[in-house]
Formats: sequence, structure tokens, C-alpha cells
Amino acid sequence: MQELRRRENASLDERVADPPAPRLQTLGPPPADTAGRQAWQAQALLLEQARAASLAGDQVALRTATAEPPEVFGSQEDRAAAHAWSVDRDAAEAPADDALRDAAASPGTHAGLSVAIIGGSITGPVLSLLFRQAGFDDIHVYEATPTATPQAGGVIGLDHVSLGVLDTIGIPQEEIVPFPSERVISIKIADRREAGRVQTLYPGRNTTWTLAHHALTRRLPEHALHTGARLVDLEPGPDGRPVLRFQGGSSATADLAAFADGRTSTGRRLLDPDRPLRYAGYVAHRGQLDDCPADLRDFRRYEPNGTQFTAFPIRHAGGVGTDWTFYLSASAEQFRAHFGADPTTRTFVAPHQISDAARAYVDAKATELLPPSAADLVHRTTTRMAVPVLDIAPPTRMVYPVGAGRAVLLGDALAPVRPHTGRGGNNGIDQAAGLVIALAQHRRHHADLDAALAAWQARYLPMVAQSLQLGPQLGHAIGLGDD
Ligand SMILES: Cc1cc2nc3c(=O)[nH]c(=O)nc-3n(C[C@H](O)[C@H](O)[C@H](O)COP(=O)(O)OP(=O)(O)OC[C@H]3O[C@@H](n4cnc5c(N)ncnc54)[C@H](O)[C@@H]3O)c2cc1C
Repeated sequence: MQELRRRENASLDERVADPPAPRLQTLGPPPADTAGRQAWQAQALLLEQARAASLAGDQVALRTATAEPPEVFGSQEDRAAAHAWSVDRDAAEAPADDALRDAAASPGTHAGLSVAIIGGSITGPVLSLLFRQAGFDDIHVYEATPTATPQAGGVIGLDHVSLGVLDTIGIPQEEIVPFPSERVISIKIADRREAGRVQTLYPGRNTTWTLAHHALTRRLPEHALHTGARLVDLEPGPDGRPVLRFQGGSSATADLAAFADGRTSTGRRLLDPDRPLRYAGYVAHRGQLDDCPADLRDFRRYEPNGTQFTAFPIRHAGGVGTDWTFYLSASAEQFRAHFGADPTTRTFVAPHQISDAARAYVDAKATELLPPSAADLVHRTTTRMAVPVLDIAPPTRMVYPVGAGRAVLLGDALAPVRPHTGRGGNNGIDQAAGLVIALAQHRRHHADLDAALAAWQARYLPMVAQSLQLGPQLGHAIGLGDD
């Protein structure tokens, strides 16, 4: 990685000459009368089409100059697993998904720039679909797990900006938001009884990881999503471009490596190794059960002293279920005793890793702290997960040179933030949208690449720092953890 750092000033697009700026004919202001304005609009449309065609022409010339055969990806087992996964998936959804993929794809006006996205959860697929929509067509997503696996589970609140971004890539809100309430009911609890409530509005809607992930990945072109592909290293290749190395020995080359590989990011470890994860001293225990109280249709937050319990309805094949999260303080030793590993190593505890001791502990805490109706939800839940709450030092950069190419960190890979901020998923989507705009400005309008990426970084770093600062403040106000 030292080598990567030394080559600071190399340019991502050194291999290709920038196309000359297209000459544009200009129109005067639109006339005031209706007929004149209509003629003017028609003329403007023709000019816009001519301009787009001229740009596409330039890009075709570039693509010819730089085209390289795609890397053969993955070990035989990797490919078999990925193939089996996609065959299963397609058997269930083929006709609808073909139409969705066509709708999400747009002409490859930015061919010539290849992007490898590491991580196929939320941030990675959003980034991929945004790139495709902006006309980039050499975009591949590499996901370590062979099948969809949540890393945080459950309900995720997406703000209006994120929902708007998803809308632009053809994911209508109705597809991922089965319960559209904006209300948040916060209920103060004392001695297991309500001591007052406050109603506020969340500026967005609640989805679940499963719904969002499914909506995103079913729109990815099949050849562009490589599952069972765990990146282990990154280095400049013989032509200067970043080479991604995968477990099992396969590799891929791209101009840009975008790391969206989550809390335990390999990209962060390689590019920014001095920001280790720190355990915050509490755990988000999560559960899902198959039924839901009839009066639970808003986001509900119970607030006994020193803890928090939230609940929201979820849709499942058989009807309406409940998703809950119960935050409880726990020392690192207690975490190890309950879940068999350090909290900075086992950053997501899957249902099969929940020990009987952990289950009994959470049940007892529910009985001690929650109103009987909420405790009953916990006691009846068989599917449980747990997420240790983690902190990290604020990042100082998001962009890194790798030979003549670039690598970027975004989403939880850049910085996982505490769940109470409701910012983790939103930050990743915001950053993805900004990154695609920066690269589209570079390819379409010949904006200086480094200036565009520096501006992207300068815009989003303060937002991440703000979320990282807010998290401990909220945890402290609730009375959770070390802070
Ligand atoms: C209790 C709780 C509540 C939350 N509520 C909200 C909320 O209301 N709003 C909100 O915005 N956010 C919320 N979040 C945060 C949100 O879930 C995360 O920020 C979001 O899932 C991060 O998405 P991501 O795609 O960046 O990373 P992840 O979801 O962590 O995905 C990373 C992906 O990369 C893959 N990967 C890892 N290593 C490699 C590798 N070496 N090679 C290839 N692939 C790899 C992983 O398998 C995974 O699929 C919450 C989190 C928790 C725990």
C-alpha cells in the first residue's frame, strides 16, 4: 500500500486523451408568443440531441482506443455459487426483472471508464445503478457473500433525499415502503408504565434492509453482480490501473475501485489502516416476529432509563410482522460471553449465532424494563440478531490514488455511524449520488478529475464527521454505553 500512496499525482484518465470540447450552436432567448416559443423549444430539443450525439461519438472513439477484454472472474466454486444464486433468483423473477434491468440501464455514453464496486449490500448497488443511469456501462459489483446477507438487519429509515435518489434509479417508494407512516411516537417509561409521550415526524420513510437490497439487486444486470467474491487486496497493475485480488486467486482490473464493503471494510484496512473500530459499550439486539399488534403502524420508541426499545411493522408473505430493536449496555467481556467473539470482530451476530445465554439475558431485561405488551413481543420472538454499536475516528479523506487509478471509500466502509443517528444508509446513498455526479462531470464536461473528486470529498466529509459526533451524544443522552 505504500506504493499506492507514493503515486499521489497520477491521473485516472492518463491513458486516454480528453476529447475536445464539442462546439455548441446557441439559441437566443425564447420568444414571448406561444407559436414562437414552441418553435424555439423544438429547436432547443434538436440542439440538445445533436450535442448528446456528438458527445456519444467522442466517447465511442475513446472506447475503441481503451477497450480491454473483461477479466474472467472468480474461482470455479465462486462462479458456480454465483450462477446457482442467479439461476434461483431468476427462476422466481425473470420477466419482471428483465424489464427492470432494461429500465435501469441507459446508453453507454461513458464507456471507457471501468468501475469495480466492492460490497453488494445497499451503498454498492445504489452506486452501481446510479453509474449505469448516468451512462457508465463498465460497472461491476463484487460481493463477498454467496447470497443476500444483511449486515445490520431490520428496519432502516431513509430520508427524503435518499428516497428521491432511489426514485431516480427507478425504485418507486411503494416498492420498498409498505408502511408509509412518518410518525415517531416516543414513550417515556417509568416502572414499566407510560409516563408521557411525544409525537414527532421523521422526514422520510421506513424500509427494511431486505426490501431495499432486493429492489436494488434485482435491477443490476446479471453479468455485473459477482457474488461469493471476497476482495483481499488491491495494488497497481502493469498498466497502472488498480488490480483487485479476490480470495481464491481471481482478480479484476478497473480504473476506479469503490469500496462499499461495510463496517469491517477491507478497503479501509488497506487504504486508511489507522482508523480501527472501537466498541461503544452497548448492543442493538434485533428481532422479528410474524405478528404485529393492530395499533402498531407508526415508528414507536419506548424510553426506559438507560435503554431504548423501538418497534415498527414489517410485511412478510403471510401478513404483517414486527421488527424491534432493544439497545442494552454490555461490556466487551459480556459481548464475548454472549456471542463468542470480540465486538469489533463479530460486527453482526446472525440468528444462528445467538446463544441461549444472550436470549435469556435479553428476555430478562425486557421483563425488567419494558411495559408488559412490549416485553411480550420480545419473549415471543424466535428470530433474533445483534449488532454491537461501534465508533471510529472521523475520516480525513475518501479518495486515494492507486497507481494511475483511484480508490474511494463510502458508506459504512468510510465510517459506520451509530444507529440512533439514522444516518448510516442515508450517508452511503448521498455519497454514491455525489460520486456519480463528480465522475459524470469529468467524463461529460471534461471537469478536472482530481478537482471533482476533491470537491466530492470536501462536501461529504463534514456530514460524516457530524454523524460520528452526534452518535455518542445520543447514546449518552439515553444512558447507553461507555460515553
Ligand atoms: C440497529 C440499526 C439501525 C439502523 N437504522 C438506520 C436508519 O434508520 N437509517 C439509516 O440510514 N441507517 C441505519 N442503519 C445503518 C445501516 O444499516 C447501514 O449504514 C447500512 O446498511 C450500510 O450499508 P453499506 O452498503 O454501506 O454497508 P453494509 O450493509 O455493511 O454492506 C457491506 C457489504 O460488503 C460486503 N463485503 C464486506 N467485505 C467484503 C469484501 N472484502 N469483498 C467483497 N464484499 C465485501 C458485505 O458482505 C456486505 O454485503 C442502522 C443500523 C443498525 C445496526
